Amino acid sequence: WMAELCEKVGCEIIAGIGVEELVKDDSGAVIGIKAGDDEITSQVVILAEGVNSLLAERSLGVPRPKRNEMAVGIKELFELPARTIEDRFLTPEGEGAAMLFVGDCTHGSVGGGFLYTNKDSISLGLVATIEELSTSGTTIYQAMEDFKHHPAVAPIIRDATMVEHSGHMVSEGGFDMIPEYVYDGCLIAGDAAMLCMNLGYQVRGMDLAVASGQFAAEAACSAIDGGNVSAQALAPYRTMLEDSFVIKDMKTFRAWPQTMEHWDRMFTEYPTMVAEVFNAMFVVDGEPQQHLAKRIIPVVKQRGLLRLAKEVRGALKAL
Ligand SMILES: Cc1cc2nc3c(=O)[nH]c(=O)nc-3n(C[C@H](O)[C@H](O)[C@H](O)COP(=O)(O)OP(=O)(O)OC[C@H]3O[C@@H](n4cnc5c(N)ncnc54)[C@H](O)[C@@H]3O)c2cc1C
Repeated sequence: WMAELCEKVGCEIIAGIGVEELVKDDSGAVIGIKAGDDEITSQVVILAEGVNSLLAERSLGVPRPKRNEMAVGIKELFELPARTIEDRFLTPEGEGAAMLFVGDCTHGSVGGGFLYTNKDSISLGLVATIEELSTSGTTIYQAMEDFKHHPAVAPIIRDATMVEHSGHMVSEGGFDMIPEYVYDGCLIAGDAAMLCMNLGYQVRGMDLAVASGQFAAEAACSAIDGGNVSAQALAPYRTMLEDSFVIKDMKTFRAWPQTMEHWDRMFTEYPTMVAEVFNAMFVVDGEPQQHLAKRIIPVVKQRGLLRLAKEVRGALKAL
């Protein structure tokens, strides 16, 4: 859709080709890209290569993110008739549903599971921190297999055909991992500039990618019009990002990545605790029952009331 709109206003789109490096002049300014034997020169290059930003690393010296700043996401798409999906989620015709999971789904690693309906398919996936996965002895593939067989998930995708699967990294370090994104002749936008937030209950990067792409284009156009594409002339890109929701939101949630990384119990003990609280509420076993508070408080107390309050307070402050 976007490609068609661009072509209508005179853009030429070259798809399906991997760019291998950025071409620079003797002063180190970026003047184009190289793909195989082809070189394309340009006044400004906007680098939007996504989270695995190897060109930025190789050609601009952007440091490689640390393992604890990156997560891996895995997703499978299951085809099912729209009517079956609506029946399984009890939704009115044409409406859908979304679910989030925490706990067993990542084998207790920092991360979570997600499920959302499309018109005639269901997307199911997991996101987990690379650092945690590499030390936990589990793999994201195994966690995904187990997730699909979990009693809360298996009936939803029963008899569905898996038609697509994909894997993708997610940058999780937030504001503190944003690299330099303005260079002589080059701007970095979207995930390549690490403009993505994993807030635990939400992964957000698409709106940041769209806005930063638009700002980069506006800054590039005015620099070209002014006949100067140095980093200084392209600096309005930085101002536009900083004045917008993009950098403002990244700053607001700056403390969250550290909080989430060290909040192991959110992914292990708390989901178990919630299950135990519901068991305490609903199990009827022929024994005389105590008041609800007497059944629930010991379950919570077991995790340390003070510690729990401190952890929740820390999370609320960061979120
Ligand atoms: C599991 C998961 C769930 C997510 N959920 C959400 C969500 O619900 N909401 C949300 O807002 N965001 C979500 N995100 C984040 C969102 O997908 C990204 O922030 C967004 O796609 C970034 O857009 P982008 O254009 O910067 O990068 P990308 O979408 O990654 O696009 C980069 C493109 O560049 C291409 N490319 C890379 N290197 C080269 C090269 N050398 N030469 C040529 N082409 C190259 C890639 O093939 C790719 O097509 C999620 C991410 C994951 C992994």
